[in-house]
Amino acid sequence: MAIAYFEKLYLIFIIMFFRDVVGHEGLKNRLIKTVRENRVSHAWLFFGPEGSGALPLALAFAGYILCTNRGEKDACGSCASCNKTGKYIHPDLHFVFPVNRSRSVDKDGVTSDDFMADWRTFLNANAYGSLTQWYSHIELENKQGVISTEESKRLTAKMSLKAFESDYKVVIIWQPEKMNDQAGNKLLKLLEEPPPLTVFMLVSENPEALLTTIRSRCLSVKVPRISESDLKDALMQQKGLSGDQAAEIARLADGSYLRAIEIAEETEEEDYNFARFRDLMRSCFKSNIPELVKHAEELATLNREKQKSFLEYGLRVIRESLALHFDQRDIVFMAGKEKEFIPNFAPFVTGNNIITFTGELNKAIADIERNASGRIVFLDLALKLAALFKR
Ligand SMILES: [Zn+2]
Repeated sequence: MAIAYFEKLYLIFIIMFFRDVVGHEGLKNRLIKTVRENRVSHAWLFFGPEGSGALPLALAFAGYILCTNRGEKDACGSCASCNKTGKYIHPDLHFVFPVNRSRSVDKDGVTSDDFMADWRTFLNANAYGSLTQWYSHIELENKQGVISTEESKRLTAKMSLKAFESDYKVVIIWQPEKMNDQAGNKLLKLLEEPPPLTVFMLVSENPEALLTTIRSRCLSVKVPRISESDLKDALMQQKGLSGDQAAEIARLADGSYLRAIEIAEETEEEDYNFARFRDLMRSCFKSNIPELVKHAEELATLNREKQKSFLEYGLRVIRESLALHFDQRDIVFMAGKEKEFIPNFAPFVTGNNIITFTGELNKAIADIERNASGRIVFLDLALKLAALFKR
């Protein structure tokens, strides 16, 4: 568990194939059938709640259409076309998504083209990502993204060109509800007089916000919440969770793979914090200096957010321990392994040392916030706590 915690958890999770999309087997088969029977509509509207996988499904569908060596169930994954779609660099695959002036792209008339590199890293990290995550990825700060008139002008110009390498051009428009009316009307024109061999895929979380004229031009594909059993399977296969862990998270995730991943990360963080805090306290009891140095070094390798999360976890354990020490069981909250650890730890947290105890942890949090060296902060903390237990 500890090793995985240090890796960027969900780094490479490229979705360009149906086999990577969680659940929705029936929908996948329907989409594949339209391609195999050569009756791909020129305009599609994929819609579903956040985390249900409407964008991954559209990406896989695009990959399948562009593949030059399609299998019965999926794109081949190895032709020249798949190689490019898999990296989101296929010249006949176009993307439109909400953007705005950001810290790094600060000019008038920004369009999706200005953010393609960011878009690729975003999709690589998690194609189930939310709009809020996208805005934070491109550092929009408090601004909202839009799909502007400039954007639709560019799209119209691009669509007047022939496909470069494939029979088809595919355009994925993510969050089309972010189009202003002018942009919407331009898109409507494209949908009404579609360029030949072009497939538009609108991917929406709020289709009611679209112009009805646009909606009526598209073939609708409702992407429902993912079933619990599909979520469970995906968490086991893709995240290596045990059956029990996966089932528990799937039950809480409300059909959203995005939420499931978030819960898995939170659970992992809790587990890590618990084990590390317990082990650190044991080394403090023993005043084992070499062990304290090792703990400090490991904690120093975490990023700042995780260091703070560890210290805040420590504060919580101290609070619970004190409440337990004074027999205030009704306000004690303990989960899982904490139920064994905290009652053993509680006798050492007393009215005499609680102020120093929490004071040291809070001081460490403040030091981390002002960018002090993690190694020094954690070693200093460990030595002070060890001294506290000695008294
Ligand atoms: Zn292929």
